[in-house]
Amino acid sequence: QWIFLNGEFVTKENAKISVYDHGFLYGDGVFEGIRVYSGNVFRLREHIDRLYNSAKSILLTIPYTKEEMIHYVVETIRKNQYQDAYIRLVVSRGVGDLGLDPYNCQKPQVVIIAEPLTLFPKHLYETGIEVVTVATRRNRSDVLSPKVKSLNYLNNVLVKIEAHLANVSEALILNDQGYVAEGSGDNVFIIKDNVVYTPPGYVGALEGITRQAIIEIAQDLGYVVKEEPFTRHDVYVADEVFLTGTAAEVIAVVKVDGRVIGEGVPGPHTKRLLEEFRRRVVSEGVK
Ligand code: PLP
Repeated sequence: QWIFLNGEFVTKENAKISVYDHGFLYGDGVFEGIRVYSGNVFRLREHIDRLYNSAKSILLTIPYTKEEMIHYVVETIRKNQYQDAYIRLVVSRGVGDLGLDPYNCQKPQVVIIAEPLTLFPKHLYETGIEVVTVATRRNRSDVLSPKVKSLNYLNNVLVKIEAHLANVSEALILNDQGYVAEGSGDNVFIIKDNVVYTPPGYVGALEGITRQAIIEIAQDLGYVVKEEPFTRHDVYVADEVFLTGTAAEVIAVVKVDGRVIGEGVPGPHTKRLLEEFRRRVVSEGVK
């Protein structure tokens, strides 16, 4: 396995960075998770745009142009000869001293890791998953924007831990006003009376690339899609609930905080959206 590290390809064993890197010391950096389907990178341009926007927001200057970064991502896949893979692209502030001042960091570090896929087990797409809502809150939009995909994922990590403590694999995060924001690493959708709802970014959701793809697919299939805040109650009484993300794709949620959603199995709308999503990921994308 070849890993891209600051302009070179190195083996996994040699892919090492300093303990003085501020990504390690302070979570100071940004990242992306990207999927490759049958050799096509899904919406690479959108992922790169989001990465550069996240970096800009935290005043981190990525040492490559977008075109160069796209080239390196594609090279990483080609070098590893993957047809289907998950890519992790990380840009950290770089090596500094123990003080948190980023101005002492020499140069951002860029790492691209491509791995064969580990999906949710296949049967979960047929049965759907159970989730809970947790005490951890999404960080406020007026502080560090949830649109920034930063290396500060402690809230999300705590959400995952809370999910495990509740014996489920995923959880929903609320914002500090109690509106449902998203999952630990996925966006959330509900469907009620044939209308598709997902929380707007300002509620505290990352503007997911998969979320955007599903909004477009749903509209193409004739659904009305509304980006509106909703509460836990709205989730409990929804006809269907599902999560979207680069890794998860579209996965049905059939139980929330002990309340059975709809018939307790993945609903027809969710299935239709997943089917169309899977059809499109292979046909669109960049070779
Ligand atoms: N929300 C969070 C917090 C995430 O980390 C992710 C994963 O990237 C998502 C949502 C889903 O976004 P995407 O569809 O771009 O993977």
